[in-house]
Amino acid sequence: MTASDPDCLFCKIVAGELPADKLYEDEQVLAFKDISPQAPFHALVIPKAHLPTLNAFEASQANLAGQLMLVAKQLAAKHALPGYRVAMNVEREGGQLVFHAHLHVLGGRQMRASLG
Ligand code: 5GP
Ligand code: ZN
Repeated sequence: MTASDPDCLFCKIVAGELPADKLYEDEQVLAFKDISPQAPFHALVIPKAHLPTLNAFEASQANLAGQLMLVAKQLAAKHALPGYRVAMNVEREGGQLVFHAHLHVLGGRQMRASLG
């Protein structure tokens, strides 16, 4: 497993050093509420391992990448979201601000069809 980064915000949440509203946890994955929600339901789904961006994932981590998506689906089902958006910002140019890879799961309102 990739080592955690002591300076990383989300690694600190994984380690329990910073609080978070946890929604799901397993051996590899943690999900918690976004601190600044963009929709009535806004969760972040992260690998517990410190992978800075999607670009750091290797082929051997395909299972982990898939698990992030399946957790997103499970959260949507658990929270009775009829539809939802799953998004990942990749690198600064892709809108990423926290450099520990994460999926955004947004729902609870009508999502616009356009992405911007
Ligand atoms: P990014 O732009 O990197 O894809 O998204 C980072 C997300 O992390 C933002 O939606 C932001 O609100 C959220 N965030 C930043 N700091 C914290 C924090 O300390 N706790 C939680 N729960 N979310 C955070
Ligand atoms: Zn990290």
